[in-house]
Amino acid sequence: MQDFWLRLSIPIVLVTLFALLLWAVFSATPALLFMLLVLLVVMAHHARQLYRLGQWLQDARLETIPEAGGVWDEVFSRLYKMVKQHNQTRLELADELQHIEQATAALPEGVAILNEANRIEWCNPLAQQHFDLDAEHDLMQDITYLVRQPEFIEYLQESNFSEPLVMRPARHDDMLLSIKFIPYGVNKRLLISRDVTQLERIEAMRRDFVANVSHELRTPLTVVNGYVENLRDMTDLTREDAQRALQRMTEQTKRMENLVTDLLTLSRLENDRSPLREEAIDVEALLNEIYQDGQLLNGGVHSVHLEVQSNAKLLGNRDELRSAFGNLLSNAIRYTPAGGIISLRWAERGGQPVFSVQDSGIGIAAQHIPRLTERFYRVDRSRSRETGGTGLGLAIVKHVAMRHQAKIEVMSEEGKGSTFALVFPIKRACPANG
Ligand code: ADP
Repeated sequence: MQDFWLRLSIPIVLVTLFALLLWAVFSATPALLFMLLVLLVVMAHHARQLYRLGQWLQDARLETIPEAGGVWDEVFSRLYKMVKQHNQTRLELADELQHIEQATAALPEGVAILNEANRIEWCNPLAQQHFDLDAEHDLMQDITYLVRQPEFIEYLQESNFSEPLVMRPARHDDMLLSIKFIPYGVNKRLLISRDVTQLERIEAMRRDFVANVSHELRTPLTVVNGYVENLRDMTDLTREDAQRALQRMTEQTKRMENLVTDLLTLSRLENDRSPLREEAIDVEALLNEIYQDGQLLNGGVHSVHLEVQSNAKLLGNRDELRSAFGNLLSNAIRYTPAGGIISLRWAERGGQPVFSVQDSGIGIAAQHIPRLTERFYRVDRSRSRETGGTGLGLAIVKHVAMRHQAKIEVMSEEGKGSTFALVFPIKRACPANG
């Protein structure tokens, strides 16, 4: 600052001294004329610099800042520093903003900032996707013009955001959103939207599962209960009556036991995240065991064949594969009328190990095939129950297949028979002597 006053005063002092000299040598008139001329020149110079400053301020860029001498040099150099500092701060802020935008874009939730008039000030890509917003055109638009569902507008107007609103977006009715508003600042609101489609699906599956298990258990329990009450109330109970009742009760408790066993197997398979305990399985020996079990179950009413066309061993978990192969054979026996033919096959297809069970049974209509591995899905409920089915066999097979990276293939024709095959990846085949 001192420098500024010094620079300003030195020429004035010099000019005044010179004018005084003129006055002393000549007279007052030339001295005054000289002063006037100098003042006019100085005024013109300052006016010119002010004009340049004004011009520059209209588009204040660092590169175009004017250069000047004298006191204006100081002014322009200060302005230069200010603009430079300002540019630097702006760059830093833009950088920060970009970071925040990147962070919010990576959020697994939609986020939008609404002002006091519910206009969208900013939104992240997921919010654009959830509400079908256009980041360019919809900014500063009233959100209630863009999201018009009555429940959304009502929720926003009621301003009670303790519980989230769950709704389907207008253009994506297969999606379920959980929406919340969080008030902040002066009358601003943060709109948070979360895609809960998957969660809701899992919750619905859980509800169905509990309902199914309860239903499956209630029927045999009711039957057993009925017999117990009859036995208690019957005064003239004969030995045959008691035998018959006990026989029925045993069947029903067996049914419950089967169900609980399958439920436990399924739950173990679903929850086991540990790596599969694997060994090279001698499939021929395993199939012989399953074949023997099948003969017992079959009671001689079908003709069951075992065809081992490959001597490759299979890398996998013996217990799990025994359960899956056994379930497929048991289904073939249960859904094939007496006198039918059932073939158990172990073969290779293009290097891939394939286990299959073919039957000449009742077959399955095409529309049921994609759903067979769902828990409790049955084509004919009463036939499944009559034969002791739990509705979980193929769900177990599916899990075992998944854990062994195998594909389930179903070929079936109603009234003619079915073939269920498990196709394993090549890497699971081991040479016979391996
Ligand atoms: P279930 O205990 O009812 O047999 P699964 O999960 O093993 O349950 O099978 C589901 C349904 O698939 C069965 O109820 C049956 O309708 C059908 N199914 C399975 N295997 C066969 C087969 N070999 N032939 C005809 N239908 C079959």
